Amino acid sequence: MRIRTLTGSLAAVLALSSPLLWGGQAVAAPSAAPEQVSAARLLTYDASGSAEFRSAVDRGVAIWNESVDSVELRPVASGQRANIRVLADNGWPRALPGSLGSGTVYIGRQAVNQGYDTVRISAHELGHILGLPDRKPGPCSSLMSGSSAGTACTNRYPNAAERAEVEDNFAGALAGTSERTGRADASVPAPRAVLIRD
Ligand SMILES: [Zn+2]
Repeated sequence: MRIRTLTGSLAAVLALSSPLLWGGQAVAAPSAAPEQVSAARLLTYDASGSAEFRSAVDRGVAIWNESVDSVELRPVASGQRANIRVLADNGWPRALPGSLGSGTVYIGRQAVNQGYDTVRISAHELGHILGLPDRKPGPCSSLMSGSSAGTACTNRYPNAAERAEVEDNFAGALAGTSERTGRADASVPAPRAVLIRD
């Protein structure tokens, strides 16, 4: 790394018009771009209402954590409000997304009783919370093809396109980037009150 004197680098600093660290009598010329925000967007989930599907929900969460870098789901601390609530009920599986990365997922027993894979259901519904739409009808290789792939389909992983879409959704929504780039405004959907069935 080159160290330039304050006098020598003043013009460059002004031209860059970005904050640089000033040190005593010298300015360290940046040898690379400032460190980018690389931390994933952290979302919390509460699966305490998911009854017999608790382990399937945890597995669905783990699959997303394995599959993407820009967002990470963690169990909510007790007493805290989670971004995502997961509930079990007797209806058809569905999601009620709020703003990107938040909402409620229902692991419906109706589909489970028909033979659909509970982990695929969990990962699929979480996919809606992460901003993915249904892609139906679709092949088993697609997570968002949902029930259209049939009960024999036990693929629980998003395909490359689905992973990329989630990465893109959250890459623009990371804290600290939205106001500077304006990307978040374009990439974060407005709060949705639309129920996504299956
Ligand atoms: Zn769906």
